[in-house]
Order: sequence, then C-alpha cells, then structure tokens
Amino acid sequence: MEDMHDTTGHSAPSTDSSATDASTGHRPYEPVAIEAKWRERWEERGTNRADIAGAKRPYYALMMFPYPSAEGLHVGNLFAFTGNDIFARFQRLQGYNVFEPLGYDAFGIHSENFALKIGEHPMRLIPRNVANFRRQLERAGLMVDWRLSVNTTEPDYYKWTQWVFLQMYKQGLAYKKQGAVNWCPSCKTVLANEQVIGGRCERCDTPVEQRQLEQWFFEISKYAPRLLDNLERIDWSETTKTAQRNWIGRSDGAHVRFRLVHEPEVMVEVFTTRVDTVYGATYIVLAPEHPLVEAVTTPEQLPLISAYRAEAAKKDVVARKTSRDKTGVFTGAYAVNPATGAQVPVWVSDYVLMEYGTGAIMAVPGHDERDFEFATKFSLPIVRVVASAGEDTTAPLTQAMTESDNCVLVNSGEFDGVPVAEGKRAIVEMLLGRGAAEPVVNYRLHDWCISRQRYWGPPIPIIYCDACGTVPVPEDQLPVVLPYIEDFRPDDSGVSPLARHEEWYRVPCPKCGALARRETDVSDTFLDSAWYFLRYPSVGNDTVPFDETITKKWLPVDSYIGGNEHAVLHLLYSRFVTMVLSDIGALGFEEPFTKFRAHGLIIREGAKMSKSRGNVVNPDEYIDSWGADSFRTYLMFLGPFEEGGDFRDKGISGVRRFLDRLWSSVHGASSTGTPDADVMRKLHQTIKKVGEDVPRLSYNTAIAAMMEYMNVLRKGERTPHRDEVRPLVQMVAPFAPHVAEELWEVFDETGSVFDGGWPVYDPSQLTEDTVDIVVQVNGKVRGKIPVSRSASQDDVYTAAVALPAVAKFVTETPKKVVFVPGRLLSIVV
Ligand SMILES: [Zn+2]
Ligand SMILES: [Zn+2]
Repeated sequence: MEDMHDTTGHSAPSTDSSATDASTGHRPYEPVAIEAKWRERWEERGTNRADIAGAKRPYYALMMFPYPSAEGLHVGNLFAFTGNDIFARFQRLQGYNVFEPLGYDAFGIHSENFALKIGEHPMRLIPRNVANFRRQLERAGLMVDWRLSVNTTEPDYYKWTQWVFLQMYKQGLAYKKQGAVNWCPSCKTVLANEQVIGGRCERCDTPVEQRQLEQWFFEISKYAPRLLDNLERIDWSETTKTAQRNWIGRSDGAHVRFRLVHEPEVMVEVFTTRVDTVYGATYIVLAPEHPLVEAVTTPEQLPLISAYRAEAAKKDVVARKTSRDKTGVFTGAYAVNPATGAQVPVWVSDYVLMEYGTGAIMAVPGHDERDFEFATKFSLPIVRVVASAGEDTTAPLTQAMTESDNCVLVNSGEFDGVPVAEGKRAIVEMLLGRGAAEPVVNYRLHDWCISRQRYWGPPIPIIYCDACGTVPVPEDQLPVVLPYIEDFRPDDSGVSPLARHEEWYRVPCPKCGALARRETDVSDTFLDSAWYFLRYPSVGNDTVPFDETITKKWLPVDSYIGGNEHAVLHLLYSRFVTMVLSDIGALGFEEPFTKFRAHGLIIREGAKMSKSRGNVVNPDEYIDSWGADSFRTYLMFLGPFEEGGDFRDKGISGVRRFLDRLWSSVHGASSTGTPDADVMRKLHQTIKKVGEDVPRLSYNTAIAAMMEYMNVLRKGERTPHRDEVRPLVQMVAPFAPHVAEELWEVFDETGSVFDGGWPVYDPSQLTEDTVDIVVQVNGKVRGKIPVSRSASQDDVYTAAVALPAVAKFVTETPKKVVFVPGRLLSIVV
C-alpha cells in the first residue's frame, strides 16, 4: 500500500510530475474539467437511465433519501450515497440493469422549525434547498436516474401518501383515540417517547408536559408477530435486525390474577414474564391510571391516592420509568397471592406504566431492581426465590439478584430445587389449574401515532360530517392539497394551524353534501418515507401509486443501504406498510427490502462532526480542490463501510496520487511487446480480490488492493503494457467513475466503461510461480530453495548443491536422489 502520510494537508494538489513530463507528451489529469465533461455526456447519452420497462436483469439499488436541509448536503449523506453508488455500478458491470434512484424527504418538523426560525415559508424554502441538494448530488457523480425522482412535498407524490392512509383506514387499521401524549410547549408539538431525554424535548431542551389529545394511530401492533418472524428470512445487517427484535419486544409470560381480600369478585390481573418468581411476589402495584384504582382503594386512603394520581399525570413517561427515587401510596387493600395464599398489599406507583402489559405488576423485590428500590423505601417484605444450586439463601439481600444459568427455585413450596425454565412451565400449569393464570405472549411495540398538529405535511384525507360521522375522502378526490397559508405557526391550542383557515377546512360531505369539515391534522413524515421506494419506478404515472407490471419487475428492492439510526422507525414502518399493501392484494410481496446494510459513521480528526464544533466537512470544498473522484474514493478508503472511519485532511492526497498514477500509467502505456508475467499474475489476484470485496462492501480493502497493484505495475518507474492497466481502469470505475470514463476512451472505446463488463481473472494465474523446495541430506533438512514451479530435478539438484549448508554434506556423487516436484529434494550419500 502507498504511504498515505507523505504529503501536506488540505490544499489544492499539484498533478503527478510524470503526467506533465514533456517526454511523455500526454495531458495532465484535471479532475474539474473531466468531471464536468462526463456529467454532461452521461446526461446526453442517458448513461444513468434505467430501462424500466425493458430491463432483462433488473436490479434495484436503493439508498435512504435525504432530508434537504438548508445547510446543504452533509458529508455523512455523501458517504452513504457513494457506498451505494459503488455497489450499484459494480452490479451494472456484472451485467445487471441497475436502477439507482434518489429523492427528497422534505416534509416534517425539521423543515418547518427551520422555516419558522429564519422567517421563510417552507413552500419557498424547500424548493431552494432541493435545488442546492440536486446540484451537490450531481457533482458527486452518482449513477442516479434523475428522471424518476420523488419529492414528498409535491402533490403528485403525497396524493399517494394519502391513498396509503385510506387503505389503512379501509382495513380498520387507522383509528383515532384520546391519549396521554408528551407535549413540548416550545415546539408546540407532540413528541414520541424516544424524543424525550431526561424529561426534556430532544430538539429544544424544554421540559415536556403531558397532554390529552385526540390522535390518529395505525395499528402496527397487530402485525408485531409477523414483523418479528419475518426477520428470520431477510438478509439484513445483524445490528439492524437485533434493534427491530428489541423494539418489537416479544415477551413470553403469563397473566396472573390476584383476588382482592375484602372484595373477592375483584381481580387484579398482572402480566409477568417471570411467573417462576410468583412465590416471591410480596405486593401488587397498579399504575396511577389503572381503571381499578378507585374500586380497590379504601375510603380512608382515597384522598392520598387522588392527590398522588394528579401529581403523576404531570410527569412524562421517561422520567417515570427511569427515576431512582420511587414514590407510591398504599390503597389500603390486600390481594391473595394465588401461589402462596398469602395476603399481599396493593399499592399505586408511577413506576408502573399503563402501556406495558396490563398496567399492574406483581412485585418481586428479591429479583427486580425497581421493585427492590420500592420495597426498601416502603419496608415491604423481600423474599428470595431463585438461587444457584446449594447457595446459602438465608442472608438478607442487599440488592435484587440477577440469575445465572443453572439456577433453581427456592422458598417456592413444592417447586424448590426445580430449574428456572422448568419451574416457569410447571407454575403456569399449576396456576392454570386453579383458574388463576394463563400463558400469554406480549409485545412492546405500540401503535404508530401518525397525526401531527402542524402545517408542513400531507393533510390527513378525512372529513367530519354531523350527519355521516367520519368520512374518508374518496380516492378520486385526492390529493387533498396542502393550502398555501402565510401564517403556519403552531400555537398553544394543540390543534393544527390549518384549523385557523375556515375557507380550507369547510367542505361539502362526500356522502350527503351537507357542510362538513376536513381533518386539520397532517400526517407524520415517517408515513411519507414508509412507501417511497414503491413510487420511484412508477414516477410519472398519475393514475396509480405504483404500476403493477413495473412493480413486479423491480420490487422488492434488491439492496438497500442506509443509516442504523433508522433501524426501528423508518425500516419498521416500511415493512408494516408493505405487509398491509400485500394483504390487500396491491403488492405481491410482504418484505420491501430483500437485503439491507447499515453503513458506519465518519468522524473528523478523531472527533464527532457537528455544527457547534465547526468541524463539519463541506463536500463542495473538497470536490473543488480534489475532484469528486478523489473525494469519493477517499471516503470509502477511511475504513470498513459498515463501520465508518476517521476523516483526516491529510489522507485524501494519497488517494489523489493513486489516481494521478493511474492517469499517467494509462497515457504512457505501451501497446507493443508482451505484458510482464509477474505483473499479470498480480493483476489477476487483484481482479479476484476486488471482485470479492466490493459486493461485501469492503471498499477500503478493495482500494488498498488496487493501490498495491499500482505499486507492482509501476515498480522502478517501468512503462506498463496496456493489458496490464486496462482492467485496472474497469476496477477503479465504480469508485472514480469520471476518470475511468476518460481513461476508457484512451483504449479507443466509444461506449461507457460501465457497459464494458467486469474483467475476468484467470484462476491458473492466482498462485505464485515459485515454490520453496525443502532439501534433505540423509533424512535431515539442510535448507530451502525457491525455484520455479516447473523446475526439473536436475535444475533443483544444481541449485541445492550450490547452497553451502548442503554442499558440505554432499562431497561425492550421491547414492540416491528422490525428487517430489514442488516440495522436496532428498539426497542420500
Ligand atoms: Zn421542543
Ligand atoms: Zn354527510
């Protein structure tokens, strides 16, 4: 590999001296001019256009589309896109008809908040951002088919986003309900639990409030088992699949019923995944919102309980889950533990949430950290019911115990000594027999809240009529166009700014014609991106969201590349929407992305890139100085694509030098004589390695292999033969497409290098031509000699006796010589 640290920092490079050498006479490598020329030519020739209707071997290479921010293209975007582009170009060189589309995910709160901040309307701001992104993306030399692009804010796109909503509605999968939501009083919007960090808004750090609001939900929870099971049969990054598994959160457990002592007809049902610990359940806790709280509470305790519930309603969910200082109030009631028959107190505490299980728990303080903290604070009994075999369990616990493998049950009546897994099954069985439990599977996945009380999104296509109730907008009346309104600022009312515009929301009811009103909420930006990959091949078709024949040809997506920050939301929602569309017969497949690879992240000079640090790499600057080809190749050289790497200004010069040397090697190559055998052997080894590394996205090692080959090719500044450099141009092409096209012309080629195929290696050339032969004298090893693989016995003998270590034992004609070609020469004297 070339030394990457031999040049100065981030400054415009000088071209390779050999390239300007008057004796060679060829023109220098000037990336700016060459790259502009090829972008123009690709456009003229339609090089990057996919033959959507006629492709014989369609291959859909998708990348996650960007949010077009005002700051312009982030180098992280470009890192991802380049990685996808290289793979897509490689697939094309393998003979596939590759479709590599790109578009803009331009609705949503990020754009809207930015528009508010700078006092510009998003309908003016976004087209400007999109134009800037397009300019930057084009400079990067991506093989994108720009004819088939999408912009989620265009009515001809969101018409179909609204159509997707209507399909959900028709299937009974879209419903409206009142719910407690996290509300940011500064952003004036609802936040998902993941957007609340330590009780504060992730975006603006304002303390979050709880509010009761009517929201639209998609019933994704109904699909939880399928979303989980299908993960087994898709080729995705393991980290992404693990994140989805955890998010869906299947837990195998049981519903266990605890009967109240003073009111035996009232049962508190709890969900537990640890029914094996039921003998250690020393109290019950209800969430403050639990519907049984009032029925259970004794009159004396009611004032305390009511005050506590009012207090809890003010806290956000995340703070409740994570607070170490446990609070709670005793209801005055007792329930019967169905396993032990003991009477256990019933408490109310906000560390129990309504969202999980039944909103009530059996507390096992011996084996649950939060229960332990609570029991310690309120002096409730702590009983240990699981231990390693033979362990002393008499000492009081100082913390909740976590179990190791081969643990057994203790203090558990007839189940003492039974291993945990077996105990789980046996205890559910026992309680089932008593009518006190049944096994259940629970999922952590909540329904997807898709409404936003904001302006910058597609209006939800619903109309409310006093006579007919909730009426979906008929499909032939789509799109419901988002009106241009000057005042799009959200207010404290918790209703969308569209609700202030009567002329827009007053419409006749589609059913009875009476005056009705539109839904004024818009949909979540994650709905825009949950189906966009279906649209690309059918862009331009205004009658359907996706054409049946074309979709059959191109989908599901063959390869999808994107960031793991989208491991759960976007990637899960896309799978869900695809499954529903498959269920209604609109699609013939239920998994949208056959293969998904998460790319890594890049840092700069060892630090995370951020605007506040002022260390963000601006792609324009680097492309101006070094050319897009060097920039692309350098980004991929930083480290394994799936892990990312450290962007160092010094590093790019080494990549540029490699392309300079390629340039001068091609221009200076001789077309007479024969290629060098050793160089050709190295070439075939390199073709094999690069051809194996690229589909594994191991771009850094592929580049290193090509650099290593360059060193062999130019050793001693030799003049390379054309046959030695031509395949290198083909291998470099996916990484540095512009210069590869330019150099391809030097070989008198008239078509695109991307239609020239991938070089083929000769397997017989892969092994080295010399072998080490072991030399023995009277059975003892006396030396090793490197000889040609085809060397004869005489040749090897002559070389062997020339070694002093051998010669001193072979002083006369040997009695016998045994030769094993390629391995051994044995001399007997
Ligand atoms: Zn906020
Ligand atoms: Zn009506």
